[in-house]
Amino acid sequence: MKRKDFVKGLAGMGIMATGISGCNSDTSQFDGQGLRDNKYKWKMVTTWPPNFPILGESCQLLAQWVEEMSAGQLTIHVYGGGELVPPLEAFEAVSIGGIELASSASYYWAGKIPAAQFFAAVPFGFNAQQMNTWLDVGGGMELWRELYAPYNLIPFNGGNTGLQMGGWYNRQINSLDDFNGLKMRIPGLGGKVLSKVGGSPILSPGSEIYTNLERGVIDATEWLGPYHDYLMGFPDIAKYYYYPGWHECGTTLEIIINKKKFESLPHHLRAILTSAISRVKSHMLAQFELKNSEYLAKIKSEKKVELKAFSTEILRKLKQTTTTTLEELAQKDNDTAKVYQSFKNFSQHQAEWSKASEAAYYSMSNL
Ligand code: CA
Repeated sequence: MKRKDFVKGLAGMGIMATGISGCNSDTSQFDGQGLRDNKYKWKMVTTWPPNFPILGESCQLLAQWVEEMSAGQLTIHVYGGGELVPPLEAFEAVSIGGIELASSASYYWAGKIPAAQFFAAVPFGFNAQQMNTWLDVGGGMELWRELYAPYNLIPFNGGNTGLQMGGWYNRQINSLDDFNGLKMRIPGLGGKVLSKVGGSPILSPGSEIYTNLERGVIDATEWLGPYHDYLMGFPDIAKYYYYPGWHECGTTLEIIINKKKFESLPHHLRAILTSAISRVKSHMLAQFELKNSEYLAKIKSEKKVELKAFSTEILRKLKQTTTTTLEELAQKDNDTAKVYQSFKNFSQHQAEWSKASEAAYYSMSNL
Protein backbone atom coordinates (compact mmCIF):
# COMPACT_ATOMS: atom_id res chain seq x y z
CA MET A 1 0.00 0.00 0.00
CA LYS A 2 1.28 3.46 -0.90
CA ARG A 3 1.64 6.09 1.81
CA LYS A 4 -0.99 8.27 0.12
CA ASP A 5 -3.56 5.44 0.24
CA PHE A 6 -2.65 4.63 3.81
CA VAL A 7 -3.29 8.21 4.91
CA LYS A 8 -6.53 8.24 2.96
CA GLY A 9 -7.46 5.05 4.81
CA LEU A 10 -6.89 6.77 8.14
CA ALA A 11 -9.39 9.46 7.15
CA GLY A 12 -11.86 6.71 6.35
CA MET A 13 -11.39 5.24 9.82
CA GLY A 14 -12.54 8.52 11.35
CA ILE A 15 -15.70 8.47 9.30
CA MET A 16 -16.31 4.81 10.14
CA ALA A 17 -15.87 5.41 13.86
CA THR A 18 -18.46 8.20 13.74
CA GLY A 19 -20.73 5.90 11.81
CA ILE A 20 -20.41 3.13 14.39
CA SER A 21 -21.10 5.34 17.38
CA GLY A 22 -24.18 6.72 15.72
CA CYS A 23 -25.67 3.55 14.30
CA ASN A 24 -28.44 1.38 15.64
CA SER A 25 -27.57 -2.28 15.49
CA ASP A 26 -29.77 -4.19 13.12
CA THR A 27 -30.47 -7.71 14.33
CA SER A 28 -33.16 -8.45 11.79
CA GLN A 29 -30.75 -10.68 9.84
CA PHE A 30 -30.82 -13.14 12.76
CA ASP A 31 -34.60 -13.45 12.90
CA GLY A 32 -35.84 -16.98 12.46
CA GLN A 33 -32.47 -18.52 13.30
CA GLY A 34 -33.43 -19.81 16.70
CA LEU A 35 -32.10 -16.69 18.40
CA ARG A 36 -33.64 -17.68 21.69
CA ASP A 37 -35.62 -20.83 20.92
CA ASN A 38 -33.48 -23.92 20.97
CA LYS A 39 -31.21 -24.78 23.87
CA TYR A 40 -27.98 -26.60 23.16
CA LYS A 41 -26.34 -28.81 25.77
CA TRP A 42 -22.87 -29.83 24.66
CA LYS A 43 -20.24 -32.16 26.03
CA MET A 44 -16.54 -31.39 25.99
CA VAL A 45 -13.81 -33.93 26.68
CA THR A 46 -10.14 -33.21 27.31
CA THR A 47 -6.84 -35.03 27.27
CA TRP A 48 -5.98 -33.40 30.62
CA PRO A 49 -6.75 -34.81 34.06
CA PRO A 50 -9.90 -33.23 35.56
CA ASN A 51 -9.29 -29.57 36.56
CA PHE A 52 -5.66 -29.74 35.46
CA PRO A 53 -4.05 -26.36 36.24
CA ILE A 54 -4.45 -23.83 33.43
CA LEU A 55 -5.19 -26.38 30.66
CA GLY A 56 -8.21 -27.98 32.32
CA GLU A 57 -9.22 -24.74 34.01
CA SER A 58 -9.35 -22.99 30.64
CA CYS A 59 -12.02 -25.46 29.49
CA GLN A 60 -14.15 -24.55 32.50
CA LEU A 61 -13.68 -20.87 31.63
CA LEU A 62 -14.71 -21.56 28.04
CA ALA A 63 -17.91 -23.19 29.29
CA GLN A 64 -18.57 -20.31 31.69
CA TRP A 65 -17.99 -17.59 29.07
CA VAL A 66 -20.14 -19.34 26.45
CA GLU A 67 -22.98 -19.73 28.93
CA GLU A 68 -22.76 -16.07 29.96
CA MET A 69 -22.58 -14.73 26.43
CA SER A 70 -25.40 -16.92 25.17
CA ALA A 71 -27.56 -16.26 28.25
CA GLY A 72 -27.66 -20.00 28.86
CA GLN A 73 -28.70 -20.99 25.34
CA LEU A 74 -25.48 -22.98 24.81
CA THR A 75 -24.10 -24.85 27.80
CA ILE A 76 -20.99 -27.02 27.81
CA HIS A 77 -20.28 -29.74 30.34
CA VAL A 78 -16.55 -30.34 30.65
CA TYR A 79 -15.21 -33.83 31.37
CA GLY A 80 -11.58 -34.42 32.36
CA GLY A 81 -9.56 -37.10 30.58
CA GLY A 82 -10.94 -40.55 31.41
CA GLU A 83 -14.21 -39.29 32.90
CA LEU A 84 -16.21 -39.89 29.75
CA VAL A 85 -13.69 -41.25 27.24
CA PRO A 86 -9.99 -42.16 27.68
CA PRO A 87 -7.77 -39.07 27.16
CA LEU A 88 -6.30 -40.20 23.86
CA GLU A 89 -9.68 -41.11 22.36
CA ALA A 90 -10.87 -37.50 22.37
CA PHE A 91 -10.16 -37.04 18.66
CA GLU A 92 -12.15 -40.14 17.68
CA ALA A 93 -15.05 -39.31 20.01
CA VAL A 94 -15.53 -35.82 18.54
CA SER A 95 -14.92 -37.07 15.00
CA ILE A 96 -17.78 -39.58 15.33
CA GLY A 97 -19.95 -36.89 16.90
CA GLY A 98 -21.00 -38.47 20.19
CA ILE A 99 -19.10 -35.62 21.84
CA GLU A 100 -19.34 -32.10 20.43
CA LEU A 101 -15.88 -30.74 21.24
CA ALA A 102 -12.55 -31.44 22.88
CA SER A 103 -9.46 -29.71 24.20
CA SER A 104 -6.18 -31.36 23.32
CA ALA A 105 -2.92 -30.91 21.42
CA SER A 106 -2.52 -31.99 17.81
CA TYR A 107 0.77 -33.84 18.31
CA TYR A 108 -1.14 -36.57 20.12
CA TRP A 109 -2.57 -37.56 16.72
CA ALA A 110 0.81 -37.81 14.95
CA GLY A 111 0.38 -41.59 14.58
CA LYS A 112 -2.78 -41.02 12.55
CA ILE A 113 -1.86 -37.68 10.92
CA PRO A 114 1.93 -37.09 10.94
CA ALA A 115 1.56 -33.48 9.71
CA ALA A 116 -0.64 -32.64 12.72
CA GLN A 117 2.34 -32.15 15.03
CA PHE A 118 3.30 -28.92 13.25
CA PHE A 119 0.15 -27.38 14.74
CA ALA A 120 1.22 -28.19 18.32
CA ALA A 121 5.02 -28.06 18.42
CA VAL A 122 8.06 -29.19 16.50
CA PRO A 123 11.57 -28.73 17.95
CA PHE A 124 13.06 -25.30 17.19
CA GLY A 125 9.62 -24.32 15.87
CA PHE A 126 7.58 -21.19 16.42
CA ASN A 127 7.16 -19.40 19.73
CA ALA A 128 3.67 -18.41 20.89
CA GLN A 129 3.64 -15.11 19.04
CA GLN A 130 4.84 -16.63 15.78
CA MET A 131 2.49 -19.59 16.12
CA ASN A 132 -0.51 -17.30 16.63
CA THR A 133 0.54 -15.26 13.61
CA TRP A 134 1.10 -18.30 11.38
CA LEU A 135 -2.20 -19.89 12.40
CA ASP A 136 -4.44 -16.84 12.64
CA VAL A 137 -3.28 -14.79 9.66
CA GLY A 138 -0.32 -16.57 8.03
CA GLY A 139 -2.04 -19.46 6.24
CA GLY A 140 -1.43 -22.14 8.89
CA MET A 141 -5.05 -22.51 9.96
CA GLU A 142 -6.25 -23.21 6.40
CA LEU A 143 -3.81 -26.13 6.19
CA TRP A 144 -4.84 -27.39 9.62
CA ARG A 145 -8.57 -27.29 8.68
CA GLU A 146 -7.84 -29.10 5.41
CA LEU A 147 -5.98 -31.79 7.34
CA TYR A 148 -8.84 -32.41 9.81
CA ALA A 149 -11.71 -32.08 7.28
CA PRO A 150 -11.75 -35.82 6.41
CA TYR A 151 -12.38 -36.49 10.10
CA ASN A 152 -15.41 -34.20 10.23
CA LEU A 153 -13.53 -31.90 12.64
CA ILE A 154 -12.86 -28.17 12.75
CA PRO A 155 -9.69 -27.29 14.68
CA PHE A 156 -9.30 -23.98 16.52
CA ASN A 157 -6.21 -22.36 18.02
CA GLY A 158 -6.92 -23.24 21.65
CA GLY A 159 -4.10 -21.49 23.52
CA ASN A 160 -0.40 -21.76 24.10
CA THR A 161 1.91 -22.88 26.89
CA GLY A 162 4.60 -20.38 25.89
CA LEU A 163 8.19 -21.55 25.79
CA GLN A 164 8.64 -24.68 27.87
CA MET A 165 11.70 -25.65 29.91
CA GLY A 166 14.44 -28.00 28.70
CA GLY A 167 13.83 -30.38 31.58
CA TRP A 168 15.09 -31.88 34.82
CA TYR A 169 18.43 -33.67 34.81
CA ASN A 170 20.45 -35.57 37.35
CA ARG A 171 23.61 -35.15 35.32
CA GLN A 172 25.12 -32.18 33.58
CA ILE A 173 24.90 -31.71 29.82
CA ASN A 174 28.10 -29.94 28.84
CA SER A 175 28.46 -31.31 25.33
CA LEU A 176 26.41 -33.30 22.85
CA ASP A 177 28.21 -36.47 24.01
CA ASP A 178 26.49 -36.17 27.38
CA PHE A 179 23.23 -37.15 25.69
CA ASN A 180 24.81 -40.51 24.90
CA GLY A 181 22.91 -43.19 26.79
CA LEU A 182 20.75 -40.62 28.56
CA LYS A 183 17.38 -42.07 29.44
CA MET A 184 14.90 -39.24 29.27
CA ARG A 185 11.15 -38.99 29.35
CA ILE A 186 10.54 -36.86 26.28
CA PRO A 187 7.72 -37.59 23.83
CA GLY A 188 7.25 -36.90 20.12
CA LEU A 189 9.75 -35.33 17.77
CA GLY A 190 11.93 -34.11 20.64
CA GLY A 191 12.36 -37.77 21.53
CA LYS A 192 13.27 -38.65 17.93
CA VAL A 193 15.95 -35.94 17.93
CA LEU A 194 17.29 -37.18 21.28
CA SER A 195 17.62 -40.72 19.94
CA LYS A 196 19.53 -39.43 16.89
CA VAL A 197 22.13 -37.89 19.21
CA GLY A 198 22.51 -41.10 21.22
CA GLY A 199 19.90 -40.77 23.97
CA SER A 200 16.99 -43.06 24.82
CA PRO A 201 13.61 -41.36 24.80
CA ILE A 202 11.26 -43.09 27.21
CA LEU A 203 7.52 -42.63 27.27
CA SER A 204 5.93 -42.82 30.66
CA PRO A 205 2.52 -41.60 31.78
CA GLY A 206 2.51 -38.36 33.79
CA SER A 207 1.65 -40.24 36.96
CA GLU A 208 4.84 -42.36 36.82
CA ILE A 209 7.47 -39.76 35.91
CA TYR A 210 8.27 -38.71 39.48
CA THR A 211 8.91 -42.25 40.72
CA ASN A 212 10.94 -43.13 37.62
CA LEU A 213 13.19 -40.11 38.05
CA GLU A 214 13.53 -40.63 41.79
CA ARG A 215 14.51 -44.30 41.36
CA GLY A 216 16.87 -43.64 38.48
CA VAL A 217 14.76 -45.54 35.94
CA ILE A 218 15.20 -42.34 33.91
CA ASP A 219 18.03 -39.78 34.11
CA ALA A 220 15.97 -36.82 33.00
CA THR A 221 12.49 -35.64 32.13
CA GLU A 222 10.82 -32.73 30.49
CA TRP A 223 7.29 -31.69 31.40
CA LEU A 224 6.00 -28.13 30.99
CA GLY A 225 7.33 -25.06 32.76
CA PRO A 226 8.20 -24.02 36.32
CA TYR A 227 4.57 -23.90 37.54
CA HIS A 228 3.49 -27.40 36.51
CA ASP A 229 6.98 -28.84 37.13
CA TYR A 230 6.93 -27.54 40.70
CA LEU A 231 3.50 -29.09 41.28
CA MET A 232 4.90 -32.40 39.99
CA GLY A 233 7.61 -32.29 42.68
CA PHE A 234 10.58 -32.42 40.28
CA PRO A 235 12.61 -29.75 42.13
CA ASP A 236 12.88 -32.18 45.06
CA ILE A 237 14.48 -35.02 43.10
CA ALA A 238 16.54 -33.47 40.30
CA LYS A 239 19.79 -31.50 40.49
CA TYR A 240 19.68 -29.44 37.31
CA TYR A 241 16.90 -27.53 35.60
CA TYR A 242 17.85 -26.79 31.99
CA TYR A 243 16.51 -24.19 29.59
CA PRO A 244 15.33 -23.40 26.97
CA GLY A 245 12.74 -25.99 25.90
CA TRP A 246 14.18 -26.36 22.41
CA HIS A 247 11.76 -29.21 21.74
CA GLU A 248 8.61 -27.19 22.60
CA CYS A 249 9.09 -23.48 21.92
CA GLY A 250 5.45 -22.46 22.01
CA THR A 251 3.21 -25.50 22.22
CA THR A 252 -0.22 -24.78 20.84
CA LEU A 253 -3.34 -26.39 22.20
CA GLU A 254 -6.31 -27.22 20.05
CA ILE A 255 -10.03 -27.09 20.48
CA ILE A 256 -11.66 -29.44 18.03
CA ILE A 257 -15.34 -29.23 17.22
CA ASN A 258 -17.47 -31.72 15.34
CA LYS A 259 -18.16 -29.99 12.01
CA LYS A 260 -21.81 -31.06 11.70
CA LYS A 261 -22.54 -30.06 15.29
CA PHE A 262 -20.87 -26.68 14.80
CA GLU A 263 -22.84 -26.02 11.63
CA SER A 264 -26.08 -27.00 13.37
CA LEU A 265 -25.69 -24.00 15.72
CA PRO A 266 -27.41 -20.72 14.83
CA HIS A 267 -24.95 -18.08 13.58
CA HIS A 268 -24.86 -16.06 16.78
CA LEU A 269 -23.93 -19.15 18.86
CA ARG A 270 -21.15 -20.02 16.43
CA ALA A 271 -19.84 -16.46 16.84
CA ILE A 272 -20.09 -16.70 20.65
CA LEU A 273 -18.25 -20.01 20.72
CA THR A 274 -15.53 -18.74 18.37
CA SER A 275 -15.08 -15.57 20.45
CA ALA A 276 -14.87 -17.53 23.69
CA ILE A 277 -12.18 -19.80 22.20
CA SER A 278 -10.23 -16.74 21.15
CA ARG A 279 -10.49 -15.39 24.70
CA VAL A 280 -9.23 -18.72 26.07
CA LYS A 281 -6.28 -18.47 23.70
CA SER A 282 -4.98 -15.19 25.10
CA HIS A 283 -5.96 -15.94 28.70
CA MET A 284 -4.06 -19.23 28.70
CA LEU A 285 -0.78 -17.75 27.52
CA ALA A 286 -1.09 -14.94 30.07
CA GLN A 287 -1.68 -17.48 32.84
CA PHE A 288 1.38 -19.50 31.81
CA GLU A 289 3.56 -16.38 31.74
CA LEU A 290 2.33 -15.23 35.15
CA LYS A 291 2.59 -18.58 36.93
CA ASN A 292 5.88 -19.62 35.36
CA SER A 293 7.55 -16.39 36.47
CA GLU A 294 6.21 -16.82 39.99
CA TYR A 295 7.23 -20.47 40.28
CA LEU A 296 10.68 -20.09 38.74
CA ALA A 297 11.40 -17.60 41.52
CA LYS A 298 9.97 -20.07 44.07
CA ILE A 299 12.16 -22.90 42.76
CA LYS A 300 15.24 -20.71 42.92
CA SER A 301 14.57 -19.51 46.45
CA GLU A 302 13.17 -22.70 48.01
CA LYS A 303 14.96 -25.59 46.34
CA LYS A 304 18.50 -26.81 45.86
CA VAL A 305 18.34 -26.82 42.11
CA GLU A 306 20.88 -25.43 39.69
CA LEU A 307 19.33 -23.52 36.82
CA LYS A 308 21.42 -24.08 33.69
CA ALA A 309 21.29 -23.08 30.03
CA PHE A 310 22.12 -25.45 27.19
CA SER A 311 25.20 -24.12 25.39
CA THR A 312 24.86 -22.50 21.99
CA GLU A 313 26.93 -25.32 20.51
CA ILE A 314 24.59 -28.00 21.88
CA LEU A 315 21.53 -26.11 20.63
CA ARG A 316 23.09 -25.64 17.18
CA LYS A 317 23.68 -29.39 16.85
CA LEU A 318 20.21 -30.26 18.12
CA LYS A 319 18.77 -27.83 15.58
CA GLN A 320 20.73 -29.44 12.74
CA THR A 321 19.48 -32.86 13.82
CA THR A 322 15.93 -31.49 13.97
CA THR A 323 16.15 -30.22 10.38
CA THR A 324 17.26 -33.68 9.20
CA THR A 325 14.40 -35.26 11.13
CA LEU A 326 11.79 -32.89 9.67
CA GLU A 327 13.14 -33.36 6.12
CA GLU A 328 12.84 -37.14 6.53
CA LEU A 329 9.25 -36.80 7.72
CA ALA A 330 8.38 -34.55 4.78
CA GLN A 331 9.78 -37.10 2.33
CA LYS A 332 7.55 -39.83 3.71
CA ASP A 333 4.22 -38.01 3.68
CA ASN A 334 2.66 -35.52 1.21
CA ASP A 335 0.62 -33.65 3.80
CA THR A 336 3.71 -33.22 5.98
CA ALA A 337 5.65 -31.92 2.97
CA LYS A 338 2.93 -29.33 2.30
CA VAL A 339 2.69 -28.15 5.92
CA TYR A 340 6.47 -28.16 6.35
CA GLN A 341 6.82 -25.96 3.27
CA SER A 342 4.39 -23.42 4.72
CA PHE A 343 6.24 -23.63 8.06
CA LYS A 344 9.58 -22.96 6.34
CA ASN A 345 8.19 -20.12 4.22
CA PHE A 346 6.72 -18.46 7.28
CA SER A 347 9.99 -18.88 9.24
CA GLN A 348 11.87 -17.12 6.45
CA HIS A 349 9.22 -14.46 6.15
CA GLN A 350 9.49 -13.63 9.86
CA ALA A 351 13.25 -14.08 10.35
CA GLU A 352 14.47 -10.53 9.79
CA TRP A 353 11.59 -8.95 11.66
CA SER A 354 12.01 -11.30 14.66
CA LYS A 355 15.70 -10.40 14.85
CA ALA A 356 14.96 -6.70 14.74
CA SER A 357 12.08 -6.88 17.22
CA GLU A 358 11.63 -9.74 19.74
CA ALA A 359 15.24 -10.96 19.78
CA ALA A 360 16.54 -7.40 20.12
CA TYR A 361 14.00 -6.64 22.82
CA TYR A 362 15.04 -9.62 24.95
CA SER A 363 18.73 -8.88 24.52
CA MET A 364 17.99 -5.49 26.10
CA SER A 365 17.08 -7.27 29.32
CA ASN A 366 20.81 -7.91 29.87
CA LEU A 367 21.63 -4.19 29.88
CA1 CA B 1 6.54 -30.73 27.38
